Amino acid sequence: MKALKAIVAGTIYTPTETIQNGVILIDGARIAKVGPKDEIKIPPGTKVVDNSDRIVVPGFIDMHIHGAAGHDLMEGTMEAVNAVGTYLARHGTTGYLATTVTASLDRTLHAGKTLGEIIRASQTSSGATDKIAGAQPLGIHYEGPFLNVKKRGAHPASQIQKPSTETLTKMLDAAGGAARVFTLAPEVEGALAVLELARSRGLKIGIGHSNATFEEAERAIAAGATQAVHVYNAMRPFQHRDSGIIGAVLIDDRISAELICDGVHVEASAIRLLVKAKGVERLILVSDSLSGAGMPDGNYRLGNFTVHVAGGVCRTVEGNLAGSTITLDAALRNLSNFTGLTYQQCLPCATLNPARLLGMDKQKGVIAVGADADLAILDREYHVTQTYVRGRPVL
Ligand SMILES: [Zn+2]
Repeated sequence: MKALKAIVAGTIYTPTETIQNGVILIDGARIAKVGPKDEIKIPPGTKVVDNSDRIVVPGFIDMHIHGAAGHDLMEGTMEAVNAVGTYLARHGTTGYLATTVTASLDRTLHAGKTLGEIIRASQTSSGATDKIAGAQPLGIHYEGPFLNVKKRGAHPASQIQKPSTETLTKMLDAAGGAARVFTLAPEVEGALAVLELARSRGLKIGIGHSNATFEEAERAIAAGATQAVHVYNAMRPFQHRDSGIIGAVLIDDRISAELICDGVHVEASAIRLLVKAKGVERLILVSDSLSGAGMPDGNYRLGNFTVHVAGGVCRTVEGNLAGSTITLDAALRNLSNFTGLTYQQCLPCATLNPARLLGMDKQKGVIAVGADADLAILDREYHVTQTYVRGRPVL
């Protein structure tokens, strides 16, 4: 038997239930038991970690992140993955999708291949996972290259391509099964064929960087799009006679909404509207962070180009917002402050909801028997004091 560990917690949010004075018993990488202290028998020889003045929640899952700590994930190296993972774990994130930015096909395929190798190696049972520092890459999110040039945000216009199932096949083959999300603009000619192929290969479909009308967005949702990326940003604006993709996202329960909750990308009133329309169960917090996250102001790489970071805000040379420097621990606190919902009500938006969308909510995003022991320990102001990734303390 592997070494047992027991985390004694003041409060546990599973996140759907609250357990006061609880215990989480960890056996290796998994949660063996969870419940109130007086119901869980801690076997002799167990290492007991006292967090009786703290809150324990599932580790956060970031479905949309390009980089952090000076590294862009398209570098596709262990060095980049370890640097990003270490930084994220300090902020309670235990799993993420390595997200690409539109680049030349060669560069995209290279990133897909190298990230795919790292991700597949980390998922074997040989313990290779423990070679990755901090948060684990759970898959690849391809953002682009089939976007609408009118809503490209920071994606370089010269590299945006016409939707092509051939190109998609190359990208999926390069990733060798590690691609989990594909984001495109559904209104561009040929996009629906790409959407259908990606879906048939088991990917979740994001729509965004899009000038879609309401009808075009609805067609994509009917064809199986599951989430809209960074809602409100890089989308056709909502108007009362032309509600567009935002109108579809707000009223259609079949689609979830990603949100960058840093108070810069979207203002609080628009966030409250989104929460009213979608409910917290269809909201997914993402960082969309760049290599400049966790670094001083200055110039940083995003894929193939330079982004300037000043006061934590990232912009391209043309002045377009280009991703963020936020982490999900701060995004959750912001969401609670902006909406008046409790922290616990907001918590699924960074844990259970992304895990469920990705079809991994038995293993990730929950504190439950048999799930991975991915945990964030918080003080009473919801700041992270310790993180566990598959049972290992990483701070
Ligand atoms: Zn984007």
